[in-house]
Amino acid sequence: MHIIAIANNKGGVGKTTSSVNIAAGLASHGKKVLLIDLDPQANASQHLGVTQPESTISDVLKGEKQLSRSIISIENSSTDGLFDLIASERSLNQTCRWLDTEPGRELKLKNLLKNVKSRYDYILMDCMPALNVLTHNALTAASEVYIPVQAQYLALHGLSALTEEIETIKESLNKKLRVGGVIITQYDARTILNRDILKSIVDTYGDVVFKTVIRQNIALAEAPTAGKDAYAYAPESNGAKDYRSLVEEILNRA
Ligand code: ADP
Ligand code: MG
Repeated sequence: MHIIAIANNKGGVGKTTSSVNIAAGLASHGKKVLLIDLDPQANASQHLGVTQPESTISDVLKGEKQLSRSIISIENSSTDGLFDLIASERSLNQTCRWLDTEPGRELKLKNLLKNVKSRYDYILMDCMPALNVLTHNALTAASEVYIPVQAQYLALHGLSALTEEIETIKESLNKKLRVGGVIITQYDARTILNRDILKSIVDTYGDVVFKTVIRQNIALAEAPTAGKDAYAYAPESNGAKDYRSLVEEILNRA
């Protein structure tokens, strides 16, 4: 049973793209997967074609809806793999401000997952680009963090804030938390700069960096507009190939 927070306080680094395609990929291997959209921008929900959810993580955190009744079943048409989603919506912003004033605020999600986690092999949480109470909830509930890093200049800049946050949560709320993987995304092998950055990321994080590098690929950027994962949208694309290979690495690590 793995509970994985996909986090980076920088936006646009590939958190949502990775969350959706890892979830769908694991499901196609027969794994039982729950994806939780923890971003008020609801990109993961939209990516999967869920635009008007009846119940969202916002309602669940407020205690207005039951988590198990807020699960939406997503069909991965390319492989017949099914996985579960708890969607998000804009009002998660207000819930975040409310949560900030609640006692035991960082423990809410962890407690809510207690009743459902035995149903799953993997629970993935797509975090928002901020180190706020929602991300703290994800890091407190998680057994590991995956950090997507964009292979661009200043990729490692700002990551120290996340690393410090992980250390703090490890010391206080979640002793078993560890960085389970660094995912290099939006890589362009044609540029020397990208290759230098790849090297500096591997120098910094070592073995925790996945061998699979996610290349820049237009299909990955287009798939969300079709409401599909990369495998369903363009099975032969480099994007689908890279995420398939990443999922195999994840399964081998487990
Ligand atoms: P985050 O969730 O970290 O903000 P996203 O996963 O939403 O990042 O990615 C940011 C943008 O880049 C999105 O428009 C997405 O479709 C696009 N994108 C992500 N990964 C790739 C890639 N490997 N190649 C091309 N475009 C990508
Ligand atoms: Mg996102």
